[in-house]
Amino acid sequence: RNGFNKETFILSVDVGTTSIRCHVYDKEANIRGLCSTEVVLLYPEVGHVEMDPDELWRGFITVVKGAVQDAGAHMHQIEALGISTQRGTITTWNRTTGVPFHNFITWQDQRAADLVKSWNRSCTMKMIHSVMKTLYFLSRQKRCLAASLIVFSTQHVTFRLVWILTHYKQVHQAVAEGNCCFGTIDSWLLFKLTKGWFVFGPYPCNLTLFFDLQMCWSGFFCSLFSLPISIFPKVIADQQAAMFGECCFDVGDVKITMGTGTFMDINTGSKPHTSVAGLYPLVGWKIGSELVYLAEGSSADTGTAIKWAQELELFSDVQETSAMAYSVSDSDGVCFVPSFSGLQAPLNDPKACASLMGLKPSTTKCHLIRAILESIAFRNKQLYDTMLRETRIPITRIRVDGGVSSNDFVMQLTADLFGKKVTRPQHCEMSCLGAAFVAGLGTGFWRTREELKKLQSTDEVFVPQGLPKGGAYCPGREYIPVIQSWESALRRSMNWYG
Ligand code: ADP
Repeated sequence: RNGFNKETFILSVDVGTTSIRCHVYDKEANIRGLCSTEVVLLYPEVGHVEMDPDELWRGFITVVKGAVQDAGAHMHQIEALGISTQRGTITTWNRTTGVPFHNFITWQDQRAADLVKSWNRSCTMKMIHSVMKTLYFLSRQKRCLAASLIVFSTQHVTFRLVWILTHYKQVHQAVAEGNCCFGTIDSWLLFKLTKGWFVFGPYPCNLTLFFDLQMCWSGFFCSLFSLPISIFPKVIADQQAAMFGECCFDVGDVKITMGTGTFMDINTGSKPHTSVAGLYPLVGWKIGSELVYLAEGSSADTGTAIKWAQELELFSDVQETSAMAYSVSDSDGVCFVPSFSGLQAPLNDPKACASLMGLKPSTTKCHLIRAILESIAFRNKQLYDTMLRETRIPITRIRVDGGVSSNDFVMQLTADLFGKKVTRPQHCEMSCLGAAFVAGLGTGFWRTREELKKLQSTDEVFVPQGLPKGGAYCPGREYIPVIQSWESALRRSMNWYG
């Protein structure tokens, strides 16, 4: 502690699907130090996407030490640590020894697709669907429902957990002995950091289906899937980091995180939203007595589509892709369906395949890149329309973040199709900032949300092009035939693996 420095910082770690990054923030929310390391994804079988829990823990420690060193700081200057992680990625471990029984099974993993399909088509679910739809349309008492949603997808933890329990004997045995911990990445990291504290945040809890929106484990869903409630951890308060980092504190605020996948969230205030098209109602954050809900629509393949194109050597640097798309006037009739991990809301088809349609001898790399980037904006538009239709909440502002949001072509097309301004902060690492904000508010490092709003960086605003001075504006009018043929490509890709 020589040269004791009184300045304190907030440390924040974001475990994404592409990388683990750690930022050191000062009082003005400036990044004073950072460090990141790649996430190694394992593909042991077709459709299986895993991560090694011990490797992840080592990566976590490396970035924490690296960022603190980069800031020229000492650990005693760190006032709090915020953690934000990919959701729906799960593992199980031995409660006594802390040794994992198997790798993390990630949110992109498709091993439970058959189970999902059969559950969605089952008589039980048909019955639940009709009861919920009746409640949705007639009573509008959306908050009284026990279950989190009514269309299952492989991103829901439930089905992969059922898969684990049927395929790993040692897990089954540990459950019987009351010695099994089941958790997401945040619970695994907290277990390691605290040497045995077994907790869960409400945000990842939502994706289990077993977590009731009234903030407790749902006995109904546990018994429906014959799962022992004993393996679920104690719940602590948490938040949806990127939404908080974007300061989307008010009802109608929307943020779109475009990283490996796209996650579009709307603040629905104190009422959870019940969906018929696959939007998830989620707990946004619980701070003190305030409980804020979000409705989320997602698309699993955004950055993965870009990464795939890079592996095919369609471009060498991701920064080139926007200019490549702008260099041609259209995609030459090529349509790309971004569905390596199925299609999520509003189509909800885990059996859909990714596809490229309409290839011609005249098709160039630029046309292909344009088709891929367009497909990302088209999925944004589908999610946006679903959100408007279902929640009926007037959307006040739209903010974007995540790696793919740095692509100008995607952002401009998204604004054109929405017919609304879309705002991009200077720094797109909102999950890290959001986790830091919550940690900092918790310790008094920052005092109010107004103070946080003032710390927001200078934004770039994408204004819809062709907005007329008077009369009705038809968002992205020239895109209507392109979207129609893309939708036809979507339909042809559905149930491909059925
Ligand atoms: P995650 O949080 O899921 O790990 P990130 O938010 O870090 O994801 O985003 C990483 C993804 O963003 C990568 O797939 C990368 O290819 C993509 N990406 C980064 N910059 C651009 C860009 N300018 N245009 C398109 N994609 C980009």
